[in-house]
Amino acid sequence: MTTLTKNSESKFTINQAQIAGPVTRPSGRIVCPECGNDLLFYEVAEDVTLTTSYIQNPDGSFTPQSDDSRILGVVKLYCAECNHDLTRFHNRFVEMLF
Ligand SMILES: [Zn+2]
Repeated sequence: MTTLTKNSESKFTINQAQIAGPVTRPSGRIVCPECGNDLLFYEVAEDVTLTTSYIQNPDGSFTPQSDDSRILGVVKLYCAECNHDLTRFHNRFVEMLF
C-alpha cells in the first residue's frame, strides 16, 4: 500500500510515522506552542526584490502590467495571535501550502 512519490526538490523519503498506524487527528496541523492558535499565521520575507512592469499610456500615465517578486533573504513564519516565531514549522507550512 505504500507508494513512493518523487518530489523534484527532495529525495525519496518514507515517513515512518505515516506507516506506523492511524492518527486520531491530522498530524500536519501547526499549533502555536505559546497560545494554542492553529488558525491564523503570517509569513515575513526579508530582502525582497519586487519588480513591476508598466506600460506608458498615450497621455503619459502608467498602468502596471505584472509583478515579479524575488525573495533573497530569510522567510519567517509567525503566529498571528501572539506573534510567536514559528519559523521552525516553516518547511511544513510550505509543504501544506496549496
Ligand atoms: Zn501564538
